[in-house]
Amino acid sequence: MIKKELNYDVIILGAGPAGFSCAIYTARGNLKTAVLDVNMFGGQPSNYLEIENYPGFPIIGGCELMEKFEQHIDKFGVEKFPMVEIKNIKLQGKIKAVECNDTVYKAPCIIIATGASNKKLNINGEEEFKCRGVSYCAVCDGAFYKDKTVTVIGGGNSALEEAVYLTKYAKKVYVVHRRNDFRADKTVQERALNNSKIEFILNCIPVEIQGDNTVKNIVLENIATKEKTILETQGVFPYIGLCPNTDLIQNQIKLNNQGFIETDINMQTSIEGVYAAGDVRNTLLRQVITAAADGAIAAQSAVRYIESIKENIKV
Ligand code: NAP
Repeated sequence: MIKKELNYDVIILGAGPAGFSCAIYTARGNLKTAVLDVNMFGGQPSNYLEIENYPGFPIIGGCELMEKFEQHIDKFGVEKFPMVEIKNIKLQGKIKAVECNDTVYKAPCIIIATGASNKKLNINGEEEFKCRGVSYCAVCDGAFYKDKTVTVIGGGNSALEEAVYLTKYAKKVYVVHRRNDFRADKTVQERALNNSKIEFILNCIPVEIQGDNTVKNIVLENIATKEKTILETQGVFPYIGLCPNTDLIQNQIKLNNQGFIETDINMQTSIEGVYAAGDVRNTLLRQVITAAADGAIAAQSAVRYIESIKENIKV
């Protein structure tokens, strides 16, 4: 089948905070810009109930903030392609290509802002009970657990924030964490520790999820004693960190030992004309504001790169 070919100055892969902010800057920098995403636009923050550390908005819904980002790119005529099925990505060479079912998107410059997804526990029962008691999105599924008992795994911001959120519905929320100390910010910790519906089970890891049609128990193992206990629960919400969304590019580009894309301070990757921004790259902090800032820098690098190509053609 002959595919339709669409040509741009820059293609942005991913429509979360990094991709959106990138698009604002590339479009304002006069680059013909396309934003593609395999999902609906909005990225991870669309799943957050509330965000309270994005400057200028003391508290705002994740969806609402991402809608504002999207409305902002609409002002600059960015071409938007949500829910695309990407078959192949070619990063090497002067012209990069993103091949979808019936269209090939081409540009001399690509910015990868594909974000990251929730890491899996990789224990028995996790896959089997997915959507039948195992969920990675409290905001999407929390309401199904009204007056039930649920278990959150992890000790970072996501685990503790989502545990607090789940107390709106569940009668009891266990937080299982493998250490005594939490990685979450102090304010987030305090909110969870002061919530009477939350009980912490520390120094334990989950080793199996059990049930029949739906989840009934989670088996925990004490890290020090190796003693196993069975906890009755109807829901399991793993929040044990993020893994980068690099499926279609990981053999083409330099990654760090955890699989995140290596960039320099200008968001330049190991390939000329390819930049990365946001949660998908090696970075200290994964927040809406840092992703948006990365996007702006990556866009500026892209603008300069395209200008340099055009200069070379003139000479
Ligand atoms: P995270 O900060 O990496 O925390 C992951 C937690 O899961 C850690 O407590 C870790 O334990 C535990 N863990 C990791 N692997 C495990 C395993 N196999 N079994 C059991 N426990 C395991 O991840 P996150 O909470 O998803 O957050 C990701 C990023 O997004 C962070 O940068 C975070 O600050 C940011 N975030 C920010 C906000 C906000 O600012 N409002 C909200 C959500 C997320 P150890 O501590 O022992 O390593």
